[in-house]
Amino acid sequence: MKYYCNDCSYSGKTGGPAGECPACGSYSLVRRAQQGADSPAPARWRLVLLAGLWGYLIVMVAWKLLH
Ligand SMILES: [Zn+2]
Repeated sequence: MKYYCNDCSYSGKTGGPAGECPACGSYSLVRRAQQGADSPAPARWRLVLLAGLWGYLIVMVAWKLLH
């Protein structure tokens, strides 16, 4: 979770014990789920493409060694 302050634009991983902003003491602090907010997870097709390219490379090296 990440904390965002609406008054002073504070953003950080810690909030006050009573839910107040640690920077300015305002109570207009909102919590947001960290995933998808500013660092989206890598897309699944990228992992598939990476695995495919590695497999292609290994196959080509093996083919080169055997012929
Ligand atoms: Zn604040």
